[in-house]
Amino acid sequence: MGKNLIFLGAPGAGKGTFAGLLTNKIDLVHISTGDIFRRAIKNGTELGKKAQNYVETGKLVPDELVADMVVKRLTEPDCEKGFILDGFPRTLKQADLLETAFAKNEKEVSRVVFFDAGEDVLIKRLTARLTCRNCGINFNKIYGPPAQEGICDSCGGELYQREDDTIDTAKDRLDVYKTETEPLVEYYKNRGLLYTICAERTKAVMLEELLQEFNSRV
Ligand code: AMP
Repeated sequence: MGKNLIFLGAPGAGKGTFAGLLTNKIDLVHISTGDIFRRAIKNGTELGKKAQNYVETGKLVPDELVADMVVKRLTEPDCEKGFILDGFPRTLKQADLLETAFAKNEKEVSRVVFFDAGEDVLIKRLTARLTCRNCGINFNKIYGPPAQEGICDSCGGELYQREDDTIDTAKDRLDVYKTETEPLVEYYKNRGLLYTICAERTKAVMLEELLQEFNSRV
């Protein structure tokens, strides 16, 4: 069975960070829909033009547009070894579209990891987050600053604050999460796929738990 994982959780819960850390250790493809949109916007592609306004104001890009893009990406050969979907699905409709596509392609979701964190922690993390313009890795001014201010430790790229990580937009994104995405916790629980991890702890502790879980049960 392929290791087809979904990382579910509010913005700032750590999905992208842990998808990056895990794909350094386990041979899986990291697919972040947010990163795909940000790259498309930076490159001025058609997809970028369609997504820009939604992404910068913290609204969700329309379901069909995201789902088509993800389903296409999942048919690329590197995904055969397994993948982490980071930031998709984000609505019940997207989850249904994914399930339909998987049924057609004889694929399945092996596990959904739910990163559980309280709103105070999420707001603190989001508004202190710094992202590399070049490779997309996240740092945090308070919890995990880069060695050199403004410079990515990994690739030397420039760090910036995402337009949607300002306090007002971060709050809007959490509202969107609550109404649109949170119902997916129940959806995947009912399918027996949910694994909940407390995402308020240190990186080292969480990474150890995740690695143990993957090695024992995926
Ligand atoms: P993220 O980097 O995952 O926080 O995503 C940044 C932004 O990209 C979101 O606020 C949305 O505007 C857009 N986006 C990413 N994934 C999705 C998705 N599955 N559905 C709709 N919009 C998305």
